[in-house]
Amino acid sequence: MASCLLFMGVFSTMSLIPSISSESLIKLPSEGAMLGNRKIKVDDRVYCDSWRLSVETNNAGIWERIPARCERFVEDYMDGERYLSDSDVIAGFSSAFANNVKLGADGRDAWVFDIDETLLSNLPYYESHGFGSDIFNETSFDDWVNEAKAPALPASLRLYKELQQLGFKIFLLTGRSEYQREATEANLLFSGYSKWERLILREESDQGKPATIYKSERRQELVNEGYRIHGSSGDQWSDLLGFAVARRSFKLPNPMYFIL
Ligand SMILES: [Mg+2]
Repeated sequence: MASCLLFMGVFSTMSLIPSISSESLIKLPSEGAMLGNRKIKVDDRVYCDSWRLSVETNNAGIWERIPARCERFVEDYMDGERYLSDSDVIAGFSSAFANNVKLGADGRDAWVFDIDETLLSNLPYYESHGFGSDIFNETSFDDWVNEAKAPALPASLRLYKELQQLGFKIFLLTGRSEYQREATEANLLFSGYSKWERLILREESDQGKPATIYKSERRQELVNEGYRIHGSSGDQWSDLLGFAVARRSFKLPNPMYFIL
């Protein structure tokens, strides 16, 4: 009976397509289908999605401001579900990796987090400053930092707590400066973070250093202390590249600004 049904199924399917020839399924070059000759109209939404991918993969290299045609796109991305979803998926991969790490008994298994746009979201600030289309104003951003009311990125807060439960020592390595320590600690506590192992900020001697160098040097100090840096999470490639890098680096999305 089963073989009979299978045969009937094949027969009835074949009966539907006898008139379709291979020529009608394949577009030939004469019909203008060659990719190289085709004029593709790329609208702003498609272009800006491609631009965002280039930014996130570091193909864009150094960039100063989001393209004017992408201001609305970045606003929609940051304020919509996609930003939260992207962050959530990345936290999921981070968690999967962390759960497979065999931790030692010496308390030297470490995870390094950046702060801005990684643990804390400055979206309320950037919402009123053009989502990265305005030129960065250090004075007004410092005022915002001093308010200490940036919310947590929900996916990062969940990951942070899970890593602590797993037994990782959490190091916070930020481009913020020592004079912002008090406000930064207050903001972290306000938004739900606690019990980090160390908060590392730029000292006077770090001022002017590219973030890649400053952060690599600080990670190297951790390695020299005997810490094994298994994971590192940051929204900038300069949080993750350089030397003394983590075994796995996790790049969070940020189409608003670039830090070298
Ligand atoms: Mg950051």
